[in-house]
Amino acid sequence: STIMTTKLLLAFAFCRLIATVGLNMGPAAELPRLGIDGLLTVDPSDIETASIDFGLMTRNSPLAVLHPASADDVAKLIRTAAETAEYGGFTVSARGHGHSINGQAQTGNGVVIEMSGGGRRHRRGGGRAVSPPPPSPVVSEKERFVDVWGGELWIDVLKWTLGYGLAPRSWTDYLYLSVGGTLSNGGISGQAFNHGPQISNVHELDVVTGNGEIVKCSNEENSDLFHAVLGGLGQFGIITRARILLEPAPQRVRWIRVLYSNFEAFTKDQEWLISLHSKTNNEKFDYVEGFVIVDEGLINNWRSSFFSPANPVKISSFSNNKPDGGVLYCLEITKSYHESASHTVHQEVEALLKELHYIPESVFTTDLGYVDFLDRVHKAELKLRSKGLWDVPHPWLNLFVPKSRIADFDRGVFKGILGNNTSGPILIYPMNKHKWDPRTSAVTPEDDVFYLVALLRSALDNGEPTQSLEYLSHQNHQILAFCSENGIEVKQYLPHYTTEEEWAEHFGDKWPEFQARKMKFDPRHILATGQKIFPPFK
Ligand code: FAD
Repeated sequence: STIMTTKLLLAFAFCRLIATVGLNMGPAAELPRLGIDGLLTVDPSDIETASIDFGLMTRNSPLAVLHPASADDVAKLIRTAAETAEYGGFTVSARGHGHSINGQAQTGNGVVIEMSGGGRRHRRGGGRAVSPPPPSPVVSEKERFVDVWGGELWIDVLKWTLGYGLAPRSWTDYLYLSVGGTLSNGGISGQAFNHGPQISNVHELDVVTGNGEIVKCSNEENSDLFHAVLGGLGQFGIITRARILLEPAPQRVRWIRVLYSNFEAFTKDQEWLISLHSKTNNEKFDYVEGFVIVDEGLINNWRSSFFSPANPVKISSFSNNKPDGGVLYCLEITKSYHESASHTVHQEVEALLKELHYIPESVFTTDLGYVDFLDRVHKAELKLRSKGLWDVPHPWLNLFVPKSRIADFDRGVFKGILGNNTSGPILIYPMNKHKWDPRTSAVTPEDDVFYLVALLRSALDNGEPTQSLEYLSHQNHQILAFCSENGIEVKQYLPHYTTEEEWAEHFGDKWPEFQARKMKFDPRHILATGQKIFPPFK
């Protein structure tokens, strides 16, 4: 039809324009609008931001960046991409807060959609004010949910919902991540044993598929798309709205750390604590995490200022309890409460602590506001930023390790490959598999219980060989090789692979379904090509 031809011609003109003059256009240049209300730009600062991520190990410049004003804008851009795909058009990658490690939100031959609001709100381009951000979130107190734009950051979701005395139930350790970004992976923290990951705490989504359609989906409606998108690594659509489950917000948090020198005692206690998920609230902790201490020196690490700087805790003070491996393990637990219940918290905590097998003199307790606890990593970020240690390469490795092999992992990795130098925190905590919906795209190991082991390391260019990017990346390879040689069937969380064989192995039984869903929802392979799962433009 004439309309179709006109649209195609327009789209073609758009692609050619971008491809030929793209990066040379000044910030004031107008790109074809494609009926978009937001801002489509080739401003060098927009391009630069969209070219990098938190990992700082991969760089890929997009042809243009879109600051959308609505889901319609997202749909219009994707429709144009889909219609021109067979002529080698352009790809589209949503970018939340760009906190990926390996370029997952980047694209070199397409447009990055900046989903998170910060830039959009303050930006002007081409002399034209950008449209206002999408409508404010809707909070329903009665049914306890909030509807938010897919690019919102969790810190903002928290602030809005607290205004109603409510808060999401399942978190990540760090809140400056976007809703769409964490739902595309899983979204985990110490609450996951109890409430499941964030993808188990979302009721409904609006998704713009790779066909450019805006589809409302949930467990009941368009459920195939709903499950595909959750943990779907951005492969099936762009989340523009998410309906997130809420609970009455606690006001305060009792935060406790205890140390172990014996790995078996540590993991037995962690596993016991997460087995209490079905108990009433006062018979379990609200958050169960832990970390490994292999470095000599202070127990402080950048994740929090838990241990007082005035009274640093030295590992050597526990040397009598040190096993041959020289590694200590710290269990981290919290009890959230309402101020009106502060008198019972102490007893509840004591009753649970009595059942644990930590080094007796190693109990550290602090008490703080709920938001201060949830936002704890941001405080550490500010400190690192002030020392110039935040914007450095992050060769992070996140693994799900089956419970049945975690002791082997400890022997081979914590007490073996790592030596006594870690260059960053190493988290370890178990989760209950049954809290993960098997219909979603997320991949977990076979065992009923599996551990997250997160090696969150920063590479420094300070002449110290064991802190270099090469050294840490090599260690990551050694760890993966150790697991594979010893038949430890780990799954990468926030996975990074480059070949189809690796992806097929990662998804295992879910691979055929993952491929079929791709055929259905993004048949031309336009979306999130930075994940390197499917080659673009099928
Ligand atoms: P981006 O990096 O912008 O995007 C990630 C992927 O999702 C890309 O493929 C992108 O195309 C896609 N995507 C982005 N937005 C959308 C959307 N709206 N719809 C569809 N696809 C989209 N994870 C945890 O689970 N728990 C933690 O405690 C945790 N802590 C972290 C702490 C730090 C300091 C950092 C850097 C990361 C942490 N992460 C954690 C990992 C984090 O959840 C993922 O990296 C997540 O992808 C980051 O969200 P983002 O908004 O920055 O996503």
